[in-house]
Amino acid sequence: MKRKRTGRADIRVLVVVGAVAVAGLLSLVAVRIAESRREAAWDAVLQEARDSTPPIIPLEGPFTVAIQPGHWKIDETPAEIRRRPRSSGAEYAGVRELDINLAVVDRLVPLLESEGWEVIVIPATVPPGMRVDAFISIHADWGSDIRRNGWKLSPPWRPSEASSLLAASLKQAFASREELREDVGGITVGMRAYFGFSYQRYHHASSPYTPATLVELGFVTNRTERIRMSTNPDYYAQILYEGLKHYRYTVGRPQAEALVPRIFSTMFVGPEGAQVRLTPDADAPWIRALEPGEPVTPVDAAEGWFEVRTRNPNQIGWVAAADLRGGNS
Ligand SMILES: [Zn+2]
Repeated sequence: MKRKRTGRADIRVLVVVGAVAVAGLLSLVAVRIAESRREAAWDAVLQEARDSTPPIIPLEGPFTVAIQPGHWKIDETPAEIRRRPRSSGAEYAGVRELDINLAVVDRLVPLLESEGWEVIVIPATVPPGMRVDAFISIHADWGSDIRRNGWKLSPPWRPSEASSLLAASLKQAFASREELREDVGGITVGMRAYFGFSYQRYHHASSPYTPATLVELGFVTNRTERIRMSTNPDYYAQILYEGLKHYRYTVGRPQAEALVPRIFSTMFVGPEGAQVRLTPDADAPWIRALEPGEPVTPVDAAEGWFEVRTRNPNQIGWVAAADLRGGNS
């Protein structure tokens, strides 16, 4: 009896264990089904995203460059851009930035056309979604300190690889002139967010797939640079010509992936905190300190460094990748 009862108890245990096992298996199957449904749903979302992204149509015909003399016909810009403070450009000691920009473009166009390229000179109003091989906007800067000098190049926020290479080609041409210096750390938030290539905000902006860079030749407020810029536009046209030629013959028409703006997800400052530095260099002066856990959104990257935008002060600087956590790259 005892054994039998035990036997019946064993059977009950077996039944319970069996039921639990079946329930467990069923719930596992249910989880798997839910997972595969979620995966299928996610695949559908990704597919939809891919389908709704306009394809990057390869450019055909002659290599085409859009050159913009900064501030040209600024009064004709549409309402979306006119909401910004109007700017007719820098001016100092009777020299207008606009006149410098126009004179340099006048000299640059025939040089580029001599290469058989197509050159479009565009006003402040950029044709909506303008898609060309390269777009450069030419400017001269203004500084409250008349000693401040130097050139600088600003690609858009989260530049495509091609935009970075365009800026690097032009940078190399400027850097080859010993008498010039780079205005290191002088690039402002306004330059990176230049309306001419801010396709996220404006209809009248170049296509995200157009490699673009804003060029500041120098400072109208600096005597040496003011004289050079206003009396020798050929000098600057030659530098830009060399930079564009370098880009054309080393990068040319890159693969579609190189034309897509980079994507960065938010990262967080590690437990040791971090410093935002002027350049991607551990010895560079720092702009401000970041607290552990503080979120940062990279706008660009270089080997071992992320370029970030900070508020208070509203500036751009570099943080060592080792001091950041998370992110997608
Ligand atoms: Zn300007």
